[in-house]
Amino acid sequence: TVRTRIAPSPTGFLHLGTARTALYSWAYARHHGGQFVLRIEDTDLARSTQDSVEQILASMKWLGLEYDEGPIYQMQRLERYQAVVDQLIAEGKAYRCYCTPEQLESMKAAQDARGEKRRYDGTWRPEAGKELPAVPEGVQPVVRFKNPVDGDVTWNDLVKGPITINNREIDDLIIVRPDGVPTYNFAVVVDDWDMSITHVFRGDEHINNTPWQINIFHALGAKLPVFGHLPIILGDDGQKLSKRRGAVSVTAYEDDGYLPEAMLNYLSRLGWSHGDDELFSSEQMVSWFDGTHLSKSPSQWDPAKLEWVNGQYIKQIDEARLASLVSAQLAKRGIQAEAAQLQPMCALFKDRCATTVALADWLSMYFAAVTPSAEELTAHVTDTIKPALTALADKFAGIEWHKAAIQAAIKEVIGAHALKMPQLAIPVRVLVCGRAQTPSLDAVLELFSKEKVIERLRGA
Ligand code: GLU
Repeated sequence: TVRTRIAPSPTGFLHLGTARTALYSWAYARHHGGQFVLRIEDTDLARSTQDSVEQILASMKWLGLEYDEGPIYQMQRLERYQAVVDQLIAEGKAYRCYCTPEQLESMKAAQDARGEKRRYDGTWRPEAGKELPAVPEGVQPVVRFKNPVDGDVTWNDLVKGPITINNREIDDLIIVRPDGVPTYNFAVVVDDWDMSITHVFRGDEHINNTPWQINIFHALGAKLPVFGHLPIILGDDGQKLSKRRGAVSVTAYEDDGYLPEAMLNYLSRLGWSHGDDELFSSEQMVSWFDGTHLSKSPSQWDPAKLEWVNGQYIKQIDEARLASLVSAQLAKRGIQAEAAQLQPMCALFKDRCATTVALADWLSMYFAAVTPSAEELTAHVTDTIKPALTALADKFAGIEWHKAAIQAAIKEVIGAHALKMPQLAIPVRVLVCGRAQTPSLDAVLELFSKEKVIERLRGA
């Protein structure tokens, strides 16, 4: 069976790139009726945090990427790594290296001076007939993998096609640090092996690690997974996505009023395509995602496109759900409003809003004071129009509060004061809604209480 995994390091939030990798891994497993595993790669003790673990789990949950196993924490598997290291050492496939940091520094300096590539010089590498240095006192050794010295490492990458690296280009990798904690390249192999991972999707920044990992797989007698290295996602300025260039965390988009299904839909197309299909559900994606049509070239993050996709979903999703999402956005602004009350408001405004934040921006006028700008007040709420506004407030006071009656009252005042519709409608919008443009005025006003409309009109 197909088994895939996502293996984030808990050193920050869940990045958009990692979210895409998770989506592809999940979809590939689902497409094949296989399993998807979540593994937390927390061996970088200095940078891993519990807070980040929680953010990652929350982001996965929000996106709806359900995993069949996990979260599995690498730091809970130290004994297992130790056992594998012991076995490799016993078999002569790994060895302890007692070089001090100073020795390694001078090794590097000498290689730099000679214009050579930096690499471990093999001081402690055991070879037949070679005498090793005496073990120094008080040095905690690292463990190095005894990499083959010749031959090629070759794999057929699902994304990039065939790749070949000569073993001369890679040195004896540190697989266990002096504190006994394994390094990424080693732990990842033991885990992918133990967890029977068949397909590894990850960012192509890891492509240089893969030859080492393949050699370690071979040393363990383990079957190789298929690797697929996904090209980077660039920011809309063509640079690598980063914190300084717009939000790169999944949770930020949740806060900004995006829907998980829109996010998945958008992410899916950053590096993969299914013909010209643009809007589709994750079920559809799963049915299509068979490991083909993966793009070899970097994709570009396009916030405007994402916003457009989100807007399409905002129009379509269940209105009760939309209302409860907007209710949550309003709550963040200190406005308590029931979803049931918000539902007709959402229905009226959703066509012009791309996010639930934009909807909350509109709907807050129903609950909190509006503050029209001074320019709008001077431009539209002129002294000549004020008598008509007062007349309208008076008219409103005597009617039943529904669309048809509101419309009739507005028409009467327009007639009595010899105005054109916008001459009255715009100042009403500015005073009641705080902006000069809104959907159809009677529909907008109907959702206010009559008293509030009258009060805002009289405020002029
Ligand atoms: N922990 C690694 C990362 O966050 C995982 C790489 C892999 O999938 O092998 O990039």
